[in-house]
Amino acid sequence: MLEYYAGPRRVHCHRGVFPKPNPSFMSKPICYSTKAYSTASAASPLGAAVIERRLPTSTDVQIQILYCGVCHSDLHFARDEWHFTQYPAVPGHEIVGKVTAVGGGVTKFKVGDTVGVGCLVDSCRTCPDCRAGLEQFCAGMVMTYGSIDKHLNAPTLGGYAQSIVVTEDFVLRMPANLNLAAAAPLLCAGITTYSPMRRWKVGPGQKVGIVGLGGLGHMGVKFAKAFGAHVVLFTTSPGKVADAKRLGAHEVVVSKDEAQMTAQANSFDFILDAVSATHDINSYLNLLKRDGNLVLVGAPEKPLPVAAFPLIFRRRSFSGSLIGGLPETQEMLDFCGKHNITSDIEIIRMDQINDAYERMLKSDVKYRFVIDMASLA
Ligand code: NAP
Ligand code: ZN
Ligand code: ZN
Repeated sequence: MLEYYAGPRRVHCHRGVFPKPNPSFMSKPICYSTKAYSTASAASPLGAAVIERRLPTSTDVQIQILYCGVCHSDLHFARDEWHFTQYPAVPGHEIVGKVTAVGGGVTKFKVGDTVGVGCLVDSCRTCPDCRAGLEQFCAGMVMTYGSIDKHLNAPTLGGYAQSIVVTEDFVLRMPANLNLAAAAPLLCAGITTYSPMRRWKVGPGQKVGIVGLGGLGHMGVKFAKAFGAHVVLFTTSPGKVADAKRLGAHEVVVSKDEAQMTAQANSFDFILDAVSATHDINSYLNLLKRDGNLVLVGAPEKPLPVAAFPLIFRRRSFSGSLIGGLPETQEMLDFCGKHNITSDIEIIRMDQINDAYERMLKSDVKYRFVIDMASLA
């Protein structure tokens, strides 16, 4: 199925050759080609391409990708909304699949294992953040897409592909009891909402708000409920109220309704904001109790203006959080296995991805698209 070749390390994609040939690697048989979906510019749709991956080194695991979740970050990145995308770009960082090969030095995985890969594929391994298991804050972290692959000296390419090669320390074990497609979004949406709630000790007796019922938000509702908090979901979409309750919210507030917002003032211990677009953050700061904390995980393209008064009155905090490190991601997966937590998903074919992005922009996802990678064959 996978084609190995010993030729120049180049990607022949639908819009040209990438990266430029590097003479030092020209004769090395270190790559193989795999089918993928890539985009050539911020304004282009995604389309079929053939990319190259490194052959597994001694510590690498090669994975046949079975499913890949569609994160709003994929869309921000594909359209260069964060201003660091290099093209051609291949998004995708909610990857689950089967191990098809392992390097000679791999000890944790064997061929046939069911595994996951999230937003990180490597880091420096030696800095204080790495030693603390917080690889997401390492200055040398390598993201699944949008970083530089140390082996190939070329941009990393994500999971909208048939296969990927990842060093074993950044590969996660998937709980056997979970539906694999529905577990894929745990690799980003799951850990991004689990981690800040663990960090700030969300639990019984607390009133917790989740803002935005999308991929992250619906996982936030499930985790906050599982941790024993009183959960209030804020949505701009009145049509999502019933779903939010089914997913575990005790109360649902339609945020466009000023009276509903005012009724919640000064009452929250913790609010997780998972909104992908510009919105009024101050209206949520005003809902925190004294010493309450609003954690932003959404990453809109444009800055969010924060007013002084909602913060200084009542000594409130405004924080951020980025995915999670490898140990905590495995802990989250194991927690989900134990409590049978997965995402609510809509499975799509790879060629439906451009339409899926448009629907995501309209908040029309229930509540995560997951690509069936067999559709790329
Ligand atoms: P998503 O599925 O598209 O959900 C975003 C939700 O935000 C929508 O469902 C909608 O919920 C709400 N929303 C959208 N536009 C809005 C607007 N103009 N005003 C108010 N609410 C709006 O996106 P996602 O995959 O969950 O990602 C959410 C954000 O988190 C993205 O910016 C993504 O890049 C970021 N992210 C951050 C991290 C991290 O580590 N910090 C990790 C992953 C993703 P309602 O319909 O309920 O209002
Ligand atoms: Zn993501
Ligand atoms: Zn490090």
